[in-house]
Amino acid sequence: MPCHPARARKFLKKGKAAVYRRYPFTMTRRVGGDLQPIEVKFDPGSRTTGIALVGHFDRGKEVIWAGNLNHRGAQVKKDLNSRRAIRRSRRNRKTRYRQARFLNRLRPKCWLPPSLRSRVDNVKNWMHKLALLAPLTQIAVETVRFDTQKLQKPEIEGIEYQQGELAGYELREYLLEKWDRQCAYCGAKNVPLEVEHIQARSKGGSDRVSNLTLACTPCNQEKGNKDIKDFLKRKKKRLKKIQAQSKAPLKDAAAVNATRYATGNVLKSFGLPITLESGGRTKFNRIKLGYSKDHWIDAACVGESGSHVVIPKAITPLIISAKGRD
Ligand SMILES: [Zn+2]
Repeated sequence: MPCHPARARKFLKKGKAAVYRRYPFTMTRRVGGDLQPIEVKFDPGSRTTGIALVGHFDRGKEVIWAGNLNHRGAQVKKDLNSRRAIRRSRRNRKTRYRQARFLNRLRPKCWLPPSLRSRVDNVKNWMHKLALLAPLTQIAVETVRFDTQKLQKPEIEGIEYQQGELAGYELREYLLEKWDRQCAYCGAKNVPLEVEHIQARSKGGSDRVSNLTLACTPCNQEKGNKDIKDFLKRKKKRLKKIQAQSKAPLKDAAAVNATRYATGNVLKSFGLPITLESGGRTKFNRIKLGYSKDHWIDAACVGESGSHVVIPKAITPLIISAKGRD
């Protein structure tokens, strides 16, 4: 269990505790009494994964340790490419006439490219280490960018006016990604965008995601409740593009990511209660609490307990660099 550095120094001086590991700093000590629940939280990223340990204390939820785990996916890829070049070259020079037998490899069902697999393994490794150092009771991991289930049932009236609402926030993030962060009608970027009904609600348009897009304020006002075909009469190309894009299914590549899915599965194997969370919720929590952007802070803000997590000022993340094995 976490304890204050001053207390830790006292224990060490009196010989009541011994240093077990320096990074992260842990001691062994005989303790009595209850253990409080500790949640381990992950925000997997392509270059860096944020890790946070959050204690569920009586006084509230508080970060007790954090780390930024830097992956080596790019290095793995580079190494494999160089190995491939060496083998190709050798085959050309020495065994040119040997019969080919390179199509005899089968890939297992859950195969991931080695550069991605290394990220999953890094997370697994640190989960294992942390499980040895702290009495973990639960896991929260961000596995999807948007909660598609929440998006599919937009029962909220006039979502666009309730930016504070989580479902509305999730929807906005999804639309921003889907429509490339620009006005669907004129292509304006870096301007405030409003959620727009492609077919106006006054004309029977629904609140479903497939009927929503993003528009800049001038376009939104100009369109009003006109039919999209009238509004874009002179822009046939754009009209076609919008009609095609609006029908794109929710479960596209932007929402689901194979590596994060694999990470979630690996963490499940530790046998602790686990919750899989969406990135929209993380960002919503982080902005509402007013924290700056960092991987470990994102990890702390994942999921339900992230909505009121306290990050003490003294916390600095451990910077971890994944090293390969020889
Ligand atoms: Zn516009």
